[in-house]
Amino acid sequence: MTPYEQVLAELPAEIVVNDKDIINGYTTDFRKKYTGESPALLRPRSTEEVTSIVKLCTLHSVALVPVGGNTGYCGGATPDVSGQQLLISLQRMNKIREVDADNLSITVDAGCILAEIHEAAEQENLMFPLSLGSQQSCQIGGNISTNAGGVSAVRYGITRDLVLGLEVVLPDGQVLSNLSPLRKDNRGYALHQLLIGAEGSLGIVTGASLRLFLPAASRVTAFLAINEISDLMPLLAKAQRYTGEAVTSFEYISGASLDLLFASKPELRRPIQTPSEHFVLIEAASSSPVLGLDQAIEAFFEDGMSGETIVDGVIATSEQQRQDFWNLREHIPEGEVLNGGSVKHDVSVRISDMARFIELGSDLVHRYGQGARLSVYGHVGDGNVHFNVLAPEGAESPAYLDEVSAKVSPCIYDLVAKLDGSFSAEYGLGQDKLPLDQIYGDPLKRHLMGKIKDVLDPNKVMNPGKVVGSQICDLS
Ligand SMILES: Cc1cc2nc3c(=O)[nH]c(=O)nc-3n(C[C@H](O)[C@H](O)[C@H](O)COP(=O)(O)OP(=O)(O)OC[C@H]3O[C@@H](n4cnc5c(N)ncnc54)[C@H](O)[C@@H]3O)c2cc1C
Repeated sequence: MTPYEQVLAELPAEIVVNDKDIINGYTTDFRKKYTGESPALLRPRSTEEVTSIVKLCTLHSVALVPVGGNTGYCGGATPDVSGQQLLISLQRMNKIREVDADNLSITVDAGCILAEIHEAAEQENLMFPLSLGSQQSCQIGGNISTNAGGVSAVRYGITRDLVLGLEVVLPDGQVLSNLSPLRKDNRGYALHQLLIGAEGSLGIVTGASLRLFLPAASRVTAFLAINEISDLMPLLAKAQRYTGEAVTSFEYISGASLDLLFASKPELRRPIQTPSEHFVLIEAASSSPVLGLDQAIEAFFEDGMSGETIVDGVIATSEQQRQDFWNLREHIPEGEVLNGGSVKHDVSVRISDMARFIELGSDLVHRYGQGARLSVYGHVGDGNVHFNVLAPEGAESPAYLDEVSAKVSPCIYDLVAKLDGSFSAEYGLGQDKLPLDQIYGDPLKRHLMGKIKDVLDPNKVMNPGKVVGSQICDLS
């Protein structure tokens, strides 16, 4: 028997899926960039069953690849091509364990879909703010393991800021658990923080305690056309001052991204007819019904119009109109796909450098991109932008993108490095960004990550080949 066959033979048959059609649903990543092979998908029903699986895999040195909703953008949940790695999904561990209104917290199984956590909080008239375009299918275990960002981070922070405690099955089978609503707990290292963003390389997250907030009692959403890219971030600062920091989302959408979308989906309607190269979707919310948010946003809007920062804009007057604005934002990636796909750069720079990055990066693409088209959009309120390059209209996309990305991507990443930014703002490293980490990453950080991996997972069972690579970085 091979080592993985030994593991499978010792597990209860009800948690082992051998059906190739089902397994194949998990062996290609969301972007269809990576395809691996796996002999089985394990679907435990409890933390105890996860423990048994992990112990057996460590005993027999069989690699285990955790998969959540498989919406990740870096191939982190895709097994390699050896056909020896087992997949583990927590889809059957999807219970809301407790909503604790007194402590503004919720404790959940890691297999819960993000949208289900939103619903559970709403039923108690509370709110969990993590919000992503993939929320109907991504799992909180995946969100935690990628330290997901999303559209509300400008106000509520990223996943790291929303997790109070975790339950994790470590590679040796021990269960590290601090599922507690405590806001303050300084008893030594915050070990659960180490697991956030670890992409399954240090253990399996089986449960989480998360922060809840009061829901919005008033909310204003506006779609704005702005004059110049240099107006972008001062506009955020202004909006924050006018609304008393009530801004929850500040999303940039380039005119080019919108044009791509409307060219491929003519049924969608433009919220603003005035032509512009730059648009902003801004949302502000308050849990206080007495704040006067409407008046604050209107005053901000008038100030922006009179200062010629805002060229045109529309404030949503109904929930339907608000949804329409968000619908446009969420469909931007689809617009790229329908136009032949793109080479993606998910980067971050200081908020104060955002406009400069977009300008300089666009110049680079125009200079070296041989007619490439650009689609730039994203969570600029957090200094994070998706800077994506498309083939010229009518060009053979895949071949063109391969050729051009080899020339243009290094220029873009060099620019990000010069601005002291990050080549991976919110999607993680997975297997996709490991080569970039070799070039732009900090060798000491990589060395320490390798050491930590070595201590916790000496047999290299947990998601090998992702995040830390396969070898400890040599500092000599
Ligand atoms: C339309 C769309 C919009 C998106 N928008 C955003 C966005 O705004 N912000 C953002 O940050 N991301 C975004 N993403 C990317 C993606 O949704 C996130 O990275 C998400 O957090 C991944 O969750 P998942 O459950 O799909 O994880 P998967 O893709 O299944 O896995 C991701 C990683 O986590 C590991 N993992 C999964 N579950 C566990 C577990 N229980 N224990 C240990 N490791 C685990 C996997 O091994 C893998 O390394 C978007 C994706 C799509 C398709």
